[in-house]
Amino acid sequence: MSKNYDIAVVGGGLAGASLACALSDTGLSIALIEAVAFDAPADENMKARTTALAWGTRAMFDELGLWSAMAEDAAAIERLHVSQAGHFGRVTVEASEYDLPALGYVVPNLVMIEVLRERLAALEHVDTIAPAAFESLAYRGEDAIELTLAEGESKRTLTTRLVIGADGARSQVRAALGIGAAVDDYDQSAIITKARTERPLAGCAYERFTPDGPLALLPFIHDTAAVVWTVPTAEARRLLALADDDFTAELQACFGARLGRLELAGPRGAYPLARVLCDRAWSHRAALIGNAGHALHPAAAQGFNLAIRDALGLAASLREHQQLAGNAFDPGDADRLAAWAESRRPDQHRVANFTDRIVRLFSNRVPGLGHARGAGLFGLSLAPGVRAGMARRSMGLALIDAAHRRQVHR
Ligand SMILES: Cc1cc2nc3c(=O)[nH]c(=O)nc-3n(C[C@H](O)[C@H](O)[C@H](O)COP(=O)(O)OP(=O)(O)OC[C@H]3O[C@@H](n4cnc5c(N)ncnc54)[C@H](O)[C@@H]3O)c2cc1C
Repeated sequence: MSKNYDIAVVGGGLAGASLACALSDTGLSIALIEAVAFDAPADENMKARTTALAWGTRAMFDELGLWSAMAEDAAAIERLHVSQAGHFGRVTVEASEYDLPALGYVVPNLVMIEVLRERLAALEHVDTIAPAAFESLAYRGEDAIELTLAEGESKRTLTTRLVIGADGARSQVRAALGIGAAVDDYDQSAIITKARTERPLAGCAYERFTPDGPLALLPFIHDTAAVVWTVPTAEARRLLALADDDFTAELQACFGARLGRLELAGPRGAYPLARVLCDRAWSHRAALIGNAGHALHPAAAQGFNLAIRDALGLAASLREHQQLAGNAFDPGDADRLAAWAESRRPDQHRVANFTDRIVRLFSNRVPGLGHARGAGLFGLSLAPGVRAGMARRSMGLALIDAAHRRQVHR
């Protein structure tokens, strides 16, 4: 028999798991549906993945009571150093300029997901259903949606009053809802790995723009740097096929000698990059968060930072509605969902456009792009307003209010 839930979150990645945790104090019954078994061994890609969390995101994890469990594995970014291959210009942004101890933190994805899932396991009102893959949905009258899930060879159905698509850039929930998405393939892939550096990063995140795409070396635990190296996809295939020493030599040639000799310190993985922007973030009794709504190039490290603002914004909206409506509360209330989507739109558009502009400004080998690159960094260093805007967006500060900031200073 179909079980009934107030909310079904499809996708137990960072966005979906964060949302389920953020809803934990509502008492609502929640199903969190994830296609991959929680105890499945991590593949090389997953082992290599790290996320740069903006200061505002750290504050949100703190609010959820999750930051302390991540902090030990988090490396602080105290300074940002942006340069451009073949140009003298550089831009630096210091946390101290903003009266903050750090611009953000680099955390292994495996640590974040483990902390989130540990919390989920302790939540009475959350049923995690994994491995189970969302297949389809059907409206059952005005008030409910039935979801069909595949669990191996068998099927399971459940009904809910609100379904959240948090199932990534190729969201099947989005497709099932008939919501379109604009997909812009950058024909680039991000190679991710770890490197040991002869000179310490000392809290500085380096981002170097090259005609092929940006290369970032970010502070990471164990005295290593997290490497995110964006190159055309064919080039990524070639680089991944190289022996470690040859790969390291190419990485060194691309990054330069600023940190002395580089040494490979972890497995290599790669992700093809596309921008995916959904036409709308909600429909009848449904909403999209995270990559299901917007997947971004990692050049500005904003994808998850944006996703958690979607998730916590939605949780706050539902909580407020619950308090105001009492017994009449309906998690799928159309006005609420529309208002939430509307409130999130400016942030989503700003960050998506900002990220896309950075990619296009600096990577003149992205198909269809002009040759504006030369003006890029020079323009940034000359325009304090642009530079300040970049810093604020990188830190997620624009979205946290004064109270938040006061709280994170404690
Ligand atoms: C190389 C790289 C570096 C990045 N670095 C940063 C960074 O530094 N900072 C930052 O903020 N962002 C960064 N991002 C972006 C960030 O990783 C994403 O925005 C974030 O992971 C999105 O999370 P999500 O939960 O929305 O989607 P996903 O991580 O894609 O999770 C979706 C989940 O849904 C599950 N799923 C899929 N289909 C189904 C189905 N049918 N049924 C059930 N479950 C399903 C999947 O198994 C998965 O667990 C980076 C991205 C890349 C590629």
